Amino acid sequence: MFETPEALHARAASALRMPPVQEWEEFPFDGEMRPRTLQPPVEREAPRDGEGGVDCWACGQPDEAFVWTNERWRLLPAGPNGLPLVVLLHPRDHYAEPGDLPDDLAAECGVLLSRIERAIRSIGDVGRVHVCRWGDGSEHLHWWFMARPARIPQLIGSFAAIWDDILPVTPDEIWKGNLDGMVAALEESGSGQ
Ligand SMILES: [Zn+2]
Repeated sequence: MFETPEALHARAASALRMPPVQEWEEFPFDGEMRPRTLQPPVEREAPRDGEGGVDCWACGQPDEAFVWTNERWRLLPAGPNGLPLVVLLHPRDHYAEPGDLPDDLAAECGVLLSRIERAIRSIGDVGRVHVCRWGDGSEHLHWWFMARPARIPQLIGSFAAIWDDILPVTPDEIWKGNLDGMVAALEESGSGQ
């Protein structure tokens, strides 16, 4: 049976572990650390931004805000940050969870995850493209694609999302070149319009 959040909290709050982060090459921070106190469950979760499509930022954006669109999907560039390129794939219509997509849209989503990953990988010395969905911020479904540079072992794995805010912001001309390269590769793959 699924443990209730209250039961988990009662079991875990005084038994938190500290993993050996000092031994993890990719851990971005140094110094003495301890886990934060685990706060008890709240009565209900706060609504996500744009819940039910009301005042939804993604729904309200014109196609011009995106770097690639088709009739059902739109690809948004995250502005320049530490990683060479981060983009987010949104369904044009408001869906909240991957499991809410009708089968035809889910099938096309799978094809696009593959094509976009391949397009990003083609732009240069990309070590990996992380394809992620968290979904605790905006409700409008969005898939993250994060390119990490190759051959810098500290930047591997899920901490790449943190390194994105630690590395200095990618210069505009480099970032724009990365974005343009991805769009060109994506259009070459036959999924553009
Ligand atoms: Zn929306």
